[in-house]
Amino acid sequence: MTYRPTIGLEIHAELATATKMFCACKNDPDEARPNVHVCPVCMAHPGAIPAANAEAIRQVLRVGMAIGGTLAPWSEFDRKNYFYPDIPKGYQISQYEHPLVLGGSLAGVAITRVHLEEDTARSSHEGGTSLVDFNRAGVPLMELVTEPVIHDAETAGMFARELQLLLRTLGAGHANLEKGEMRIEANISVSKTDTFGTKVEVKNLNSFRAVERAIAYEIARQSALLDEGGQVMQETRGWNEDNGTTFHQRRKEGSADYRYFPEPDLPKIVRTEVPAFTDESLRASLPELPHERRERYQSLGLEESQARYLGASTRRATFFDGVIQALTNDSALIRLAANYLISDAAGWYAKQNVAEEQEYETLTPDTFAALVRMTASNKLSSRGAKDTLAVLLTEGGEPESIAAKHGFTQVSDPEAIRTALAEVLTEHAAIADEFRAGKEASLQFLIGQSMRHMKGAGNPAVIKETLLEMLKA
Ligand code: ADP
Ligand code: ZN
Ligand code: MG
Repeated sequence: MTYRPTIGLEIHAELATATKMFCACKNDPDEARPNVHVCPVCMAHPGAIPAANAEAIRQVLRVGMAIGGTLAPWSEFDRKNYFYPDIPKGYQISQYEHPLVLGGSLAGVAITRVHLEEDTARSSHEGGTSLVDFNRAGVPLMELVTEPVIHDAETAGMFARELQLLLRTLGAGHANLEKGEMRIEANISVSKTDTFGTKVEVKNLNSFRAVERAIAYEIARQSALLDEGGQVMQETRGWNEDNGTTFHQRRKEGSADYRYFPEPDLPKIVRTEVPAFTDESLRASLPELPHERRERYQSLGLEESQARYLGASTRRATFFDGVIQALTNDSALIRLAANYLISDAAGWYAKQNVAEEQEYETLTPDTFAALVRMTASNKLSSRGAKDTLAVLLTEGGEPESIAAKHGFTQVSDPEAIRTALAEVLTEHAAIADEFRAGKEASLQFLIGQSMRHMKGAGNPAVIKETLLEMLKA
């Protein structure tokens, strides 16, 4: 019998506020010069007093509202004491007993809590010296902890992606993993019984793929260890992206080691005292949530997987919503639009290695909707639509003029087709006679010749129908 894996995630996300958590310094994740956004508060000069950033608190409460969590009527900050060069005060201001949010769920995964803390400085080690950049010190950092209710690597990856999408949809954070704006830690254990096994925490997972690979690796490592009669040690492990393994970093601290106590320099947060923190204002501030958007797409006739693809980024969803509007909610046209976006445009973007942030750069919802309408009204064959789309994707423009210029427009006019077919039938009179004598295969040849004669622009359905009519006449 194999072991049953159990996974719980702890995810940190920097909030995209204008200023830091406890001072007026700029919160700029893109600042390249070190130590320019600093002040006595975030550098921990003696006597400097923190003041909480209300917008950061509001964003965490919005996340809590979006996941259906319980928003604490009152909350407080705590000091988490430990020594490290990137933590100038000798403690981090965090939340312990009274987090802003308890419970809730996202993508079917139960959430334990969501709290607010400050990010650490960024340290780097070069040529025997250590450098510290305090631009990041004191940046608002949300921490979300899930219950140990995940049982496979794919679900863990899916959950993390959904949280990234939620943060972006809410405008709470940019949540780029590669920039460290979202950082994922996975706790993994395996067991053959109903009792959980000893868990191992894996850090430095800076891509969704790394999350999935590291979890799969740990499940295999722990299972093999137990099979050999060994024991899993509670520890923190790092992830080595290059060889796809985890490695021991340190033994896990217990919370007692941090000597938590309430932060004396900050007042309690009482939600009823701040208008922006009330249930009503928070609820009113929520946009359409990712799962609501997917449900709306499905209600318009899209498959679940299509809704997931088109709702997977704000950029895609905004574009697709524009298309829906341009197609005035016509379900058949919208399904056609989704097909072209997913099978054709997405395939093209994948082949050209176009990043998600650069998708749809040459398209507008209106030009794309025009292409869909031309296809639906048979002005473009499905081949012509693909060719027109390819030009639209490469250089942009208007589908009407592109189709006209490149000869992609489909001819369905019966008169034009009749004229062309008359010429084909004269040229291939013998073959036409063969068909009349019962040789079915000759029809295909004649259709092919007609298509060629019309340089591929003839509507195949009309050609076939007209041809049969003329052959029988
Ligand atoms: P700690 O006190 O060691 O930080 P917590 O109980 O706070 O542990 O849990 C931290 C994270 O580990 C949570 O995401 C939780 O779901 C997860 N977790 C707890 N126990 C287990 C376990 N046995 N296996 C896997 N994950 C677990
Ligand atoms: Zn500062
Ligand atoms: Mg814990």
